[in-house]
Amino acid sequence: MAEHMKERYEDSDLYRIRHSAAHVMAEAVLEMFPEAKYTIGPPIENGFYYDFDLPRPLTPEDLEKIEKRMRQIIAGHHKFERQVVSAAEARGIFKDQPYKLELIEGLEQGGFDEYGNPLDEKPEISIYKSDTFVDLCRGPHVEHTGQINPSALKLMQVSGAYWRGDENNPMLQRIYGTAWKTSKELEEYLWQIEEARKRDHRKLGKELEIFTFDDEVGPGLPLWLPRGAVIIDELEKLAKEKEDAAGYLRVRTPHLAKQDLFIHSGHLPYYAESMFPPMEMEGTKYYIKPMNCPMHHKIFGSRPRSYREMPVRLAEYGDCYRYEKSGELFGLMRVRSMQMNDAHMYCAEDQFEQEFMGVIDLYHQYFDIFGIDKYLMRLSTHHRSGLGKKYVDNERLWLKTEEMVRRAMDNGEVPYEEIPDEAAFYGPKIDVQIWSVIGREFTLATNQVDFAVPPRFNLSFINREGLEETPLCIHRAPLSTHERMIGFLLEHYAGSLPVWLSPDQVRVIPITDAHDDYAARLASQMRSQGIRAEADLSNDRMNAKIRQAQLFKVPYMLVVGDREMADGTVSLRKRDGSRADGMPVDDFIRLVQDRIAHRSKEL
Ligand SMILES: [Zn+2]
Ligand SMILES: [Zn+2]
Repeated sequence: MAEHMKERYEDSDLYRIRHSAAHVMAEAVLEMFPEAKYTIGPPIENGFYYDFDLPRPLTPEDLEKIEKRMRQIIAGHHKFERQVVSAAEARGIFKDQPYKLELIEGLEQGGFDEYGNPLDEKPEISIYKSDTFVDLCRGPHVEHTGQINPSALKLMQVSGAYWRGDENNPMLQRIYGTAWKTSKELEEYLWQIEEARKRDHRKLGKELEIFTFDDEVGPGLPLWLPRGAVIIDELEKLAKEKEDAAGYLRVRTPHLAKQDLFIHSGHLPYYAESMFPPMEMEGTKYYIKPMNCPMHHKIFGSRPRSYREMPVRLAEYGDCYRYEKSGELFGLMRVRSMQMNDAHMYCAEDQFEQEFMGVIDLYHQYFDIFGIDKYLMRLSTHHRSGLGKKYVDNERLWLKTEEMVRRAMDNGEVPYEEIPDEAAFYGPKIDVQIWSVIGREFTLATNQVDFAVPPRFNLSFINREGLEETPLCIHRAPLSTHERMIGFLLEHYAGSLPVWLSPDQVRVIPITDAHDDYAARLASQMRSQGIRAEADLSNDRMNAKIRQAQLFKVPYMLVVGDREMADGTVSLRKRDGSRADGMPVDDFIRLVQDRIAHRSKEL
């Protein structure tokens, strides 16, 4: 069920509804503050906003009033009427609106659209009128306000935003709203936001002692605490198991390299702004690596290769460092240091499809383990007109690899959509989107086909005919980075990680200190059998210890007292609240070992 050429958001009903709702909101705000200056109001993911320069800060009560007024405006079924105007006419209409005048100037000179975004050609200037409101706008809109569902609309919040995102410009007030087709969709969205707040990986990461940030270490550089390091170890173990089985070879590479390497790879100068600045030693500049690729290419090229050993798959959990603006850092999702589930596969053209299938197969296995039911691959392809400019000039390879990728995804029954003219310079690109259990979308990783880099690094192998042949390269990272993956998993599981991933798997809780020794012995016995178990021998009361274990979302609590000591049993309380008293110790150990061995979803 491939979703070829899915409708773009910009062409959807929701986009029109949200953009129209932004106009209605602006009308209501202008009625409330006739002296208001208004700027831009585009639709965004899940909603819309509009930025205003207002005489005073908005209050929650204001938002309520604006929302109420919006419903009245909607009920008027006012038509959205488009009109093309000259720049001079536009200036007349918006003569009291300095921000609009600035935008008109941008439109007139060309190069910018009405939102101030760069534009290739000089646009026509159009305005849209509905009821009393006029906006500089190229649409699209619904036909009339009645097509906005008043019960599927909500104003969310107000926040500050600089005009054109520049801190030297005036601070504006941005009102965020959301609009849907039905009230049910709105409710689901609000539920999802609330759930996401509870499941925020930054909040859970702190409560569960997974990771932390430290000012002196630096922004965007997470410190993994012991519990986080356990999760990382388990993910790497999983990756190694699967990659070993799929015939990958593991390599290790340094964190930095000479400038020459990154010039050769093309990272400098094209990717320089995403790299940490260079350091100089012995008259040579060194850079911290933003990607592992060039090092792996060097390993492939370190000796002659024969067709007999192809494909070569080089894997590494590689540490990379990238510069992200401090304002864009976000928990584990946007960081400056990352550990990537990286690999590069070098193969002959006739091996490509199968290699690509192998990557898809890995995805399936991981999605199954993590209970990810909804996912989508976005295949970005080339366009002829960009060959030799935006894209490597090799039409034959573009067409061939794109077709092979399509076939691999069709055969693998992978849902995908195709985005024309969005490929990387060096080959088609596959972005993987996954949805957490509460329906939030995450970009997991990007897979790329690369036919530019192998010739660039003179990579070759001797084919069956004894001739030198250039391989294709696939970049892939199905488990993404530890940072992004664990951020996702914390939300996905709401912190209640499955047993195999849980930093603490078993907490043994003695009823009184007379049972401390038995508890400690049990914990140590389990540890020697590959289970992460601790006995809580603190001075707290039993109930406090149970609460503590619950806070850390420990999958299994074992309460032990006189009876358990005498019988060699445990009283089991699972994280989900279910209980089993008088369970023989060996039975319990077998249960946990089984859950771990199968990376089971169940407790
Ligand atoms: Zn508009
Ligand atoms: Zn790569």
